Amino acid sequence: MTDRALLAMSRRNLLLALGAATTLPAPAATPPGRVVASFSILADMAREIAPAGVEVTSLVRPDADAHVFEPTPADARRLAQADLVLVNGLGFEGWIERLIKVSGYRGTTVVATQGIATRQVGGSADPHAWQDLGLAQGYVGNLSRALAARWPEAAAEVEARTADYRARLAALDTQVRQWLGAVPREKRRVITSHDAFGYFGNAYGVDFLAPQGWTTRSEPSAATVARLLRQVREQDVQALFVENISDPRLVERIARETGARVGGTLYSDALSAAGGPADTYLRMFAHNARSLAEALSKTR
Ligand SMILES: [Zn+2]
Repeated sequence: MTDRALLAMSRRNLLLALGAATTLPAPAATPPGRVVASFSILADMAREIAPAGVEVTSLVRPDADAHVFEPTPADARRLAQADLVLVNGLGFEGWIERLIKVSGYRGTTVVATQGIATRQVGGSADPHAWQDLGLAQGYVGNLSRALAARWPEAAAEVEARTADYRARLAALDTQVRQWLGAVPREKRRVITSHDAFGYFGNAYGVDFLAPQGWTTRSEPSAATVARLLRQVREQDVQALFVENISDPRLVERIARETGARVGGTLYSDALSAAGGPADTYLRMFAHNARSLAEALSKTR
């Protein structure tokens, strides 16, 4: 008896033991494949809609900062073996072009923000568009088309998973509007470490102030910090948040000097590790919105 026949027999016995039907379903055609995403949030979106059997991994790990990521030779090897590469674009991954070149990867690189209406900051596009659940639908459209094109035999599966995921994104968007809508508009003022929540602010009506611009590559100047301290006092900002990817010390200092409270941790550019409070994109978004609504409703 071959190994395969043995395996089939033991599977049949297991199903019998579980009281399942004795006619086994034909095994689904699972296209083996590897998708490499630049960062954890994009990897999670792709995992939600990719065909079964396709493995999705992320170059930048959970809780890590993609702006200052330094790729290793192992990352280049991983790219070389990829069937599809996913990036955010808009200058978020300043290191990706060189890494792809070094790796020898010749396949398609999908830019998830392709066609999305961007927020302009100081003459350049803010890359953090995933911080708006409405714009995330655009990400999912781009990823879905690319996955279905790469694995056409699984196109129907990708389409069905995409429709299901889109519905969950839309439902959370409604929920987030309810949570924040319960906070008076004039109270919705928040300090974070870097300018990662501009899209969130535009979509859900929250003003975010940050000592660092949209990239974490440069340290804020003393003048920037002084101006922010002034703004916090003048505008009576009472909710401060640290970020999972950033050094919390500056935000903690602003809290000390102004008497404002640190309301918790927001997940800006990366998910939490598995088992943490923000280990999927949907859980991350819900965590951020709930934390903001709770902290803001406590302010005077
Ligand atoms: Zn960022």
